[in-house]
Amino acid sequence: MGKPTGFKEFERKTEPYRDAMERLLDFEEIYTDHHETHLATQGARCMDCGVPFCQSADGCPVYNLIPEWNDLVYQNRWKEALDRLHKTNNFPEFTGRVCPAPCEGACVLGIHEPAVTIKNIECAIADKGFEEGWVIANPPQFRGGKTVAIVGSGPAGLAAAAQLNYAGHEVTVYERDDRVGGLLMYGIPNMKLDKAIVDRRVNLLREEGVNFIVNADVGGSGNNAAPVEQILEDFDALLLTTGATTPRDLQIPGREGDGVHFAMEFLLKNTKSLLDSNLKDGNYISAKNKNVIVIGGGDTGTDCIGTSLRHDCKSLVNFEIMGKPPADRMPNNPWPTWPTIFRVDYGHEEAAIRDGHDPRVYSISGKEFVRDDEGKLLGINTFEVDENFKEIPDTAQFWEADLIFLSMGFLGPEHYISEPLRLDLDPRSNYKANYGDFRTSHKKVFAAGDCRRGQSLVVRAIDEGRLAAEEVDKFLRG
Ligand SMILES: Cc1cc2nc3c(=O)[nH]c(=O)nc-3n(C[C@H](O)[C@H](O)[C@H](O)COP(=O)(O)OP(=O)(O)OC[C@H]3O[C@@H](n4cnc5c(N)ncnc54)[C@H](O)[C@@H]3O)c2cc1C
Ligand code: SF4
Repeated sequence: MGKPTGFKEFERKTEPYRDAMERLLDFEEIYTDHHETHLATQGARCMDCGVPFCQSADGCPVYNLIPEWNDLVYQNRWKEALDRLHKTNNFPEFTGRVCPAPCEGACVLGIHEPAVTIKNIECAIADKGFEEGWVIANPPQFRGGKTVAIVGSGPAGLAAAAQLNYAGHEVTVYERDDRVGGLLMYGIPNMKLDKAIVDRRVNLLREEGVNFIVNADVGGSGNNAAPVEQILEDFDALLLTTGATTPRDLQIPGREGDGVHFAMEFLLKNTKSLLDSNLKDGNYISAKNKNVIVIGGGDTGTDCIGTSLRHDCKSLVNFEIMGKPPADRMPNNPWPTWPTIFRVDYGHEEAAIRDGHDPRVYSISGKEFVRDDEGKLLGINTFEVDENFKEIPDTAQFWEADLIFLSMGFLGPEHYISEPLRLDLDPRSNYKANYGDFRTSHKKVFAAGDCRRGQSLVVRAIDEGRLAAEEVDKFLRG
């Protein structure tokens, strides 16, 4: 513990985002530069608790050694901080940007004072590591001749690939999209995670010897199909990290027709067009001058808001079926559990500053998409709901909309890869495999990440990828 009185002397100050009106003009990252002295002061607030809940199961899912690197940053020993960070987390430059930081919800200082700015410090350590050239390819010295195929290149697949490669196995990652990264690439938008940062890490993995095959739809039936039975025969083990990619639909009258899109269609096309042509090819759904409604919250909803605003949409509303969260923890949501409280994410802040009000409307549900005689979308009829999501009478309302994005979560993985393998599914239609051994009902097939646990977080996917790699390694070594 660098400064025993740090938590008494210094206030929590997070690194600011760029000015909202300025950042709305581009798709560059929302973050400002790191300042080492500021972060050292924030690191000094860490109390180095006897039981650091931040790095326990209630806090960081990869058990990052948080008090250790807080102290090292305070002491200006950044290289050692980076080494400590990489011991538990393959990709701190991703989590330092996109993690909601359950560690901060579990920070002991957070019981009485604002928590330590753990996520900012993590991001700065990772970024400095790259700037200083400390993060370099580290290929294994020895290869044992065993081969592993991983299907899906999101954070679970990438973490597993990194770990299995370090263990000396020949790793091939199959990805059906044209770029590697899963939702790091084509879900989370560029302003939250610059795609050059994803490519930089993927290139390091390539240098270390991981083989990536893109445009390979394993088990699919189209032009890019790659037969799963053949892959199973060719490799010693198969790990599925295919994500939870089936979106929840809103099956109400008027659903069919133009104007109503799943959030992922909007976000994926936008990032692809941005990367291919800086949005010049027009191969994306433009929200410019449109009245936009985003149905559903969470990270995906926020990203639809941020993207629509960058297109310069005419108006923006965000429906939430849940009620407005409380400002502080409720008695049934005590420390160190994740605080379910009212938060203002980057997209909400941008909308509030541009339009003068927060875009969220709570306790509301859609009844019917309204279309004209030609099928053109005019808007949506809604009703308000009580705490049991029951319709409150006489609350009908019409909302004008040219574009509606459905961001209501995901129902689990697609099954065209699990069916030919005859994998058992759990009651929520995920690939059935226990956390800990990650074995599916097929003896050579493992599963990890969102396809196993359901939609979750990048940090949990990294955790599952790392742990599944250990199990695959044990299996390969017999
Ligand atoms: C819009 C959006 C924003 C998000 N924002 C955040 C955030 O800010 N912070 C956070 O922590 N989490 C966020 N999440 C959640 C997080 O991205 C996921 O939990 C995480 O990416 C899951 O990782 P994964 O590796 O299991 O799967 P994914 O990242 O979903 O990767 C699965 C990959 O498998 C590929 N694939 C699927 N089937 C096949 C097949 N048959 N053949 C070949 N390839 C296949 C897919 O194309 C995909 O690339 C967000 C999710 C979304 C949708
Ligand atoms: S990965 Fe997430 S939970 Fe873990 S230390 Fe970083 S911000 Fe906190």
